[in-house]
Amino acid sequence: MRRKLIVQKYGGSSVANPERIQRVAQRVVDTRRAGADVVVVVSALGDTTDELLHLASQITQAPPERELDMLMATGEQVSVALLAMAIHELGEDAVSFTGAQVGILTDGTHTKARIVDINAQRLVGELAKGRIVIVAGFQGVNLRQDITTLGRGGSDLTAVALAKVLRATVCEIFTDVEGVYTADPRIVPQARKLSTISYDEMLEMASLGAQVMQARSIFVAKRFGIPIHVRSSFSLREGTMIQRSVKAMEDIVVSGVTLQRDEAKVTIRDVPDRPGMAAEIFRELAAKGINVDMIVQNVSREGSTDLSFTVIKSDLPSTLRLSRSVSHRIGAGEVTTDEGVVKLSIVGIGMRSHSGIAAKMFEAMARERINIEMISTSEIKISCVIRKAHAERAMRAVHRAFGLNRAPTSGR
Ligand code: ASP
Ligand code: MG
Repeated sequence: MRRKLIVQKYGGSSVANPERIQRVAQRVVDTRRAGADVVVVVSALGDTTDELLHLASQITQAPPERELDMLMATGEQVSVALLAMAIHELGEDAVSFTGAQVGILTDGTHTKARIVDINAQRLVGELAKGRIVIVAGFQGVNLRQDITTLGRGGSDLTAVALAKVLRATVCEIFTDVEGVYTADPRIVPQARKLSTISYDEMLEMASLGAQVMQARSIFVAKRFGIPIHVRSSFSLREGTMIQRSVKAMEDIVVSGVTLQRDEAKVTIRDVPDRPGMAAEIFRELAAKGINVDMIVQNVSREGSTDLSFTVIKSDLPSTLRLSRSVSHRIGAGEVTTDEGVVKLSIVGIGMRSHSGIAAKMFEAMARERINIEMISTSEIKISCVIRKAHAERAMRAVHRAFGLNRAPTSGR
């Protein structure tokens, strides 16, 4: 029978200093001694990636992306080497690799490359020699042998992709929280840890601001059905399993509440009420790679209408520039922006089969006298744009309304 193979990924906070690296080493060794082959993926120590980016920003405001990748990839190379040393200290054989060394081949897009192939031969060979294999997360190499990175949080993607090619039993994502919660416990102290969540819900929650895993990595996990266990590197307790939905999950209408703070609202006034106007505006934004999220167009009065939409704050300057020029061209009015908003969302696959969910969310906010400025829905989520000042109160109210609060006596 095939030996059990576990891919473990440790995030930056889990390896932030030498003591933590030693603790991770012990955990890896324990897993190995319990009889499994282990492949470990590590992120850069603590906030290293941010610090490297800060360094670059002191040199230039427009660093060549190839050089940014060269710079950022150094962070993970430090962690793999230190972890390998720590494992040797504990008496096990470990070997560290960069992404390029283990054949993580990506496309040519720097700073957010896609993995196109992994040549698992080297890895399999090392495992066969009885070694613990440690791989630098977040990085790969393109066809020109240039180092690439996989987008922020990309170590998750490295781990999931390795779990796929090695046909791992499970991919364990170690982090500084105990698992996936119904809401951010720093905002909602009554938030509960979920024992399971479906890929679809996790994907929505990750895209909507729950900072547990990189959204792209969940997409890949879903596509290949890779079981993921999100758990704490500071405790032995079980975390949250991310998997395909099971029947029992369908009975849970809402699994979580998220808050996204990085969007801003843009309004174009007095857009002529004629066919083709929205197409004109959004075509222009799309051509510049700007992702528009929520869109609201008001009822027209006297032949024109106001159009509002949200974009990621970092895209705001270019969005404003483009919107002003289109507005001028089509004879619309003033363009205004509003950064004082947040997006509050509820996520749950049970929404597919239950009605009245939106009403319940809106009622919870109405009771708190919180005004909703924009609404969007999909099959498994409902999002509302509200004032930033009300964000946390709204989150707690909605969490309570859907019965997500921990029972005071449950002791969980
Ligand atoms: N170190 C990289 C980052 O901070 C990759 C990762 O942590 O997964 O984004
Ligand atoms: Mg990191």
